[in-house]
Amino acid sequence: MFEKSVKAFDEAKKVLPGGVNSPVRAFKSVDMNPVFIDHGAGSRLYDIDGNEYIDYVLSWGPLVLGHAEQSVVSALEASVSRGTSFGAPTEIETDLAELVIRRVPSVEMVRMVNSGTEATMSALRLARGVTGRNKIVKFEGSYHGHADSLLIKAGSGVATLGLPDSPGVPAGIAENTLTVPYNDLVALRVAFEHFGADIAAVIVEPVGGNMGCVPPVAGFLEGLREITAEFGALLIFDEVMTGFRVDYNCAQGKFGIEPDITCFGKIIGGGLPVGAYGGRREIMEQIAPSGPIYQAGTLSGNPLAMTAGLETLKQLSVDDYVEFERKAARLLSGFELAAKKYGIALSTSHVGGMMGVFFTNETVVNFETAKTADTVMFARFFKKMLEQGIYLPASQFETWFLSTAHTDADIDATIAACDRAFAELVR
Ligand code: PLP
Repeated sequence: MFEKSVKAFDEAKKVLPGGVNSPVRAFKSVDMNPVFIDHGAGSRLYDIDGNEYIDYVLSWGPLVLGHAEQSVVSALEASVSRGTSFGAPTEIETDLAELVIRRVPSVEMVRMVNSGTEATMSALRLARGVTGRNKIVKFEGSYHGHADSLLIKAGSGVATLGLPDSPGVPAGIAENTLTVPYNDLVALRVAFEHFGADIAAVIVEPVGGNMGCVPPVAGFLEGLREITAEFGALLIFDEVMTGFRVDYNCAQGKFGIEPDITCFGKIIGGGLPVGAYGGRREIMEQIAPSGPIYQAGTLSGNPLAMTAGLETLKQLSVDDYVEFERKAARLLSGFELAAKKYGIALSTSHVGGMMGVFFTNETVVNFETAKTADTVMFARFFKKMLEQGIYLPASQFETWFLSTAHTDADIDATIAACDRAFAELVR
């Protein structure tokens, strides 16, 4: 069923390291050959062997409207014929910034960049520049892109590959990054009591998304706000994944916490390469050319990415997020029922259109508890689901996503496939 993909992967491995351009795509942690994609439509993906899948990866989050959504495609077609990039200001950059500012409570100004990695990297430079301090705090199992200072005990592909630190990250940079367990305010306070005078910022995924989906426990985000304010550090919400995915007003709107700086990516590019960071005016005006902190980009704010992002955000309504909650609950309760029926340890979580499915009996609140999940079981499950036309993230430690294109029939077909997969796994 995968002959053409096997051949394509063999060819790719000759010219691309590991055959891919981003590690998790190689299906290494599920010990399989990746499927090569031909095209997508709505909730569906089609591979080059002609197999059809219900897609819960959605390009790792950006495709909140599903694949090749008509209004986004039409807007892109109209835009591309006028040119792809000018390296000069265009009005659509202002349009997208205005929309982000309207929807996101703490953001008064925005700088567009080209990826989530660039957004977090630039946000840290801004925080260090504004505070005159060097250290930052991140949480174990969180992933904020692959900038040197953030590849410390990172989650996502790095956790999957069992590489807590990457070779090539200088020790001198690593020592300025403190890590504490997610959802642990006591550990955070200890870090501040030791190093508070030199901590520029705490960067956090307001819903953990790179160790599987791990919601913040009650009081965690409030505690972050209080502790950072007490010690004069900035609070950075990395909403690259949660932005416009968990709520119409992003995670900060949902939980009612205002960070100092917010990072965006994924959905605000509607499937094209994009990132952004934003915050209060007096902080953002420290960035060049209005201030001294340098950051630039040849393709930043390019019209195609701005068009796809703007059109995507315009399509989303408050009701869509109510629907995401409902569909996620429907899917996961179906999985839990099946797990009970076959005596399989399963723990699930969801916030908006983000879902976590862990093969463990533990309630997952941080990376330690996420790691109790049975990765071998996940790999077997993944394969059985793929063979039945369900495309899941190829790692136990990744979040699953929903789009507005996913129907109840898709959800029910996925639950039925899960039931069959579990039946075979316990045989
Ligand atoms: N921050 C978070 C929370 C992410 O999930 C990711 C990517 O998955 C990034 C940052 C990095 O974004 P990009 O892959 O666009 O560089």
